[in-house]
Amino acid sequence: MQQLTAETFDQNARAALRDPVLHGALRNLADNFVGRRKNAIASVDDWEGLREKARAIKEETLLHLDEYLLKFVESAENAGAKIHWARDGKEACQIVIDLVKQSDAKMVVKAKSMAGEEIHLNEALEKAGIEPVETDLGEWIIQLAGETPSHIVVPAIHKTKEQIADIFVEKVGIEKTDNVDVLTKTTRRILRERFAEAEVGISGVNFGVAETGTILILENEGNIRLTTSLTKTHIAIMGIEKVIPKFADLDVFLKLLPRSGTGQRLTAYQSLITGTKKNADDAGPEEVHIVLMDNGRSRMLSHPVTRQSLACIRCGACLNACPVYQQVGGHAYGSVYPGPIGAVITPQLIGISKAKQLPYASSLCGACKEVCPVKIDIPELLLHLRAEITDGTAGGSPDNPERKRRFAESLAFKMYGKAWSGQFSYGLGIKAARLMQKLIVRDGKIGKASGLIAKLLPPLGAWTAWRDAPAVAPRSFREMWKDGSIAEARTK
Ligand code: SF4
Repeated sequence: MQQLTAETFDQNARAALRDPVLHGALRNLADNFVGRRKNAIASVDDWEGLREKARAIKEETLLHLDEYLLKFVESAENAGAKIHWARDGKEACQIVIDLVKQSDAKMVVKAKSMAGEEIHLNEALEKAGIEPVETDLGEWIIQLAGETPSHIVVPAIHKTKEQIADIFVEKVGIEKTDNVDVLTKTTRRILRERFAEAEVGISGVNFGVAETGTILILENEGNIRLTTSLTKTHIAIMGIEKVIPKFADLDVFLKLLPRSGTGQRLTAYQSLITGTKKNADDAGPEEVHIVLMDNGRSRMLSHPVTRQSLACIRCGACLNACPVYQQVGGHAYGSVYPGPIGAVITPQLIGISKAKQLPYASSLCGACKEVCPVKIDIPELLLHLRAEITDGTAGGSPDNPERKRRFAESLAFKMYGKAWSGQFSYGLGIKAARLMQKLIVRDGKIGKASGLIAKLLPPLGAWTAWRDAPAVAPRSFREMWKDGSIAEARTK
């Protein structure tokens, strides 16, 4: 499958809109997660209070991130873990490769990790001659298919049962079946053998506790438990923003994350790992390595608006709630982080000039902000990034056509604002609009504007390509009030 890029979101989204199979698969989002989330949050007494608490913990941590990171390092090292610092994805991959090579391993089992996806770890491992084996069912399916995840929590949400059955026939060599039980049992049989062979396990981290040096990883399939306890060496990749101050803070996030992400009161497994095993007979790895990765996060930390992006706990609720994601799916975003949070994180991670369309991949309806368990104001972030593009601070050279277009747009809105804030100019504008719209209004609304009109007025063409625009009313409220027709209507 050809990997799409964030630079061509517009094109990718149009292609996704024409894909009926994708729409069928995405229907599972609304059916499975949106309703379940509502029921799950109803089981908490003070959901809003919990969200406030979570946001406050994240804010406190991000404001003193240096101190909490140092405390985390000290506690984790005291418990026997080794800490490695990575400035960017390249460094993080190299650290992991070196550690795997030190263990003489040719294969590693991997638990689902968005940080690993972010740095394209599988590609780097393969280039170094190491075979990565994904062990989360969804991740394994997309690894077999040669694709990337399309959702933070449900990586293969874009695949129908039929498509998954075809992948199993082609790559695993079983008879075609869409019986989920048969497919999962086959996966289990194959992956159990790989677990037994593996010397090294790689995972991500949901939270790292500064107070104790503990890392928490949440899951439902038990594969993370096996990845982190059967192997001799466990390597955990952790974004620097994952640290939280106290063990007791986990209580807040454990109530919020599963309910927001999958609509569960609690995930089936919560692996709390504090350093290495203490006795030879204990379960668990002999070596625990934690790779603390920056990869653009310090940049986000430097501005009060962008800083809130780092509060994200990767629950995926904003994706499930987003009308744009629901229509185009995750691959259209051309990034491992899709949906509303992807639209704000990706430009900050890879550089806004490479993902300029993403901040515009939103109707600003606010559904993402409403469901976010840590109250991230994603619309504010989107507007902040749009402003950076419009101001030209992210637009490259002054000759950049994008920058010129944004300049024209900004000028048009300034003129519109001026005209609409004066009584005389507003009245004149409405009269002119009423006159001109006669050319395009049909049955009281402006339908699809095409041909010469769309060329002369590109914004009108773009707006009406997918929806009707309301026509200006024949008479305004003020006019009706003045001539008494409102009072007349009220007395009737
Ligand atoms: S932005 Fe909020 S809703 Fe979206 S994934 Fe992050 S924590 Fe979840």
